[in-house]
Amino acid sequence: MKVTIDADTCTGCELCCDTVPDVFAMDGNVAKPKVEVVPAELEEAVRDAASNCPVEAIKIIE
Ligand code: SF4
Repeated sequence: MKVTIDADTCTGCELCCDTVPDVFAMDGNVAKPKVEVVPAELEEAVRDAASNCPVEAIKIIE
């Protein structure tokens, strides 16, 4: 599973970085994935983060 963040949509609320810090980090005013491929044990947490993103900026690629 891969994950991307639409930098034009992200508001920089930091929610995803707080909830899955091994996968998401802030890069200036927006969040960015730290990994290209999500580790299997973090896939559920990343799906939750995508669901919880207030602007649906997190895209999951199965
Ligand atoms: S939760 Fe969404 S809006 Fe907030 S920092 Fe992450 S990608 Fe950006």
